[in-house]
Amino acid sequence: MEFSIGVDIGGTNTDIGLVSCEGKCIARARFSTAAYQDASRYVDDLAIVIKQLLQEAGVTQMVKVGIGAPNSNYYTGCIDSATNLNFKDSVPICQMIRERLNTYAVVTNDANAAAYGEMIYGGAKEMKHFIMVTLGTGIGSGFVIDGQLVYGHDGYAGELGHTTIFPDGRLCSCGRRGCLEQYTAARGIQQTCLELMARAPYSGALTQYDIGDLGCKAIASEAYAGDQIALETFEYTGKLLGIALANAVAFSSPEAIFLMGGLMHAGDILLKPLRRSFEQNLLFVYKDNVQILPSKLPQNDASILGAAALTKLS
Ligand SMILES: [Zn+2]
Repeated sequence: MEFSIGVDIGGTNTDIGLVSCEGKCIARARFSTAAYQDASRYVDDLAIVIKQLLQEAGVTQMVKVGIGAPNSNYYTGCIDSATNLNFKDSVPICQMIRERLNTYAVVTNDANAAAYGEMIYGGAKEMKHFIMVTLGTGIGSGFVIDGQLVYGHDGYAGELGHTTIFPDGRLCSCGRRGCLEQYTAARGIQQTCLELMARAPYSGALTQYDIGDLGCKAIASEAYAGDQIALETFEYTGKLLGIALANAVAFSSPEAIFLMGGLMHAGDILLKPLRRSFEQNLLFVYKDNVQILPSKLPQNDASILGAAALTKLS
């Protein structure tokens, strides 16, 4: 049987999985990314963990390694100054893996990897045109057109999270204002909620929370309990996401848009207004023609499967 290794590099942890050709994660390991300041030491230990995982599973041959990492470039095989990683300079992660394990390695950002995962192992197996959007602490997106992931001229194509939804709006981590991510990712949703609470006298359920505890999970649960401000928060978030996704359809004509990530736990409280706004804002030729679907990848393994799916392209 043919195996591959999927590596999901996050700011806090690195998850590694051994994936079968059918897309089953049959063994996995995790270690701290944040504990390393030095990229070379980090990759030394990553290589050791990969070897251990193969050994424990009785796989005697070295396999290909797919990596999902923030700010990574598919063309160059480098992670470039990712703000949530300790490694500040460009890290040639693919070359470093090749040197240590003598195998093929490939890297792309997490949302692109998720798109590959959906295409190889998930709900987009039969699709040639779709968009993957990850909703969590940030908004990521990967565009698949004609069965190919779009990387663009410099390798960074498909940054829906940093398209402008409000000129002169909230300040974004990218240095500009009004990016979609500042309204529809976790912190943006919290900010919307706080702004709505401050708009008029309000003494409802949300006032019981300390600001630090007033995350999307709490807001969603109060929305389900009927709190008007919490409901309005998700109504507004869904409306903006629906507009952004309708715009994305106008320039890429997908069969479907897949959604994954932590915000999907909010369920219908987010998806209903999102789908409503999406249909309202779609260009007429696309109306009732583009589905918005939850990812079909198993949630716990999605990022590992996405990274492993990258190796299927070579
Ligand atoms: Zn931005």
